[in-house]
Amino acid sequence: MAAIPLAEGDLRWVFPDLVEVDPVLVVLRLAASRVERLAGHLGGPGTALVFDHLPGAPYAGLSARAEIDELAFDVHVSLPRDPHRNVLRSPPPWQVEGEISVRCDAIRDCGRHEIETVESAHGTPLDAANGVLAVAGWLFDRGTTEPRGSWRRRDVLSRHR
Ligand SMILES: [Zn+2]
Repeated sequence: MAAIPLAEGDLRWVFPDLVEVDPVLVVLRLAASRVERLAGHLGGPGTALVFDHLPGAPYAGLSARAEIDELAFDVHVSLPRDPHRNVLRSPPPWQVEGEISVRCDAIRDCGRHEIETVESAHGTPLDAANGVLAVAGWLFDRGTTEPRGSWRRRDVLSRHR
């Protein structure tokens, strides 16, 4: 999986029948800058929107992340999955997900522990882009208002077996 910056990839990987690219791109750029601002606020690294693209694949998702130490704020838009073959299929709907998570702190590392999540489904590219913007705004609000230490305190899986 290659992470390809928004400006260097093809929006049609995510929105195959997209005709008017600019309105969607404008909203996605706003979402990316909101995640960048959150990364700046946290003082950690940020990845503004990138395509999660498998070379040669017709489809890709888009994700952005701001993180600091063990804490990560993610937004992701993905295409629907074929339930029988577990492969991506042609949209709509697009799934938009937001996740605030902490790094696993157990001896057997399971990856990440989700603390708060949001999820929505969208019928058009512009609606999906606005969904990404809404989640980016939610991440920014949560990341700038909630004390940083409170996320781990709310981690019910902390030091699990
Ligand atoms: Zn764990």
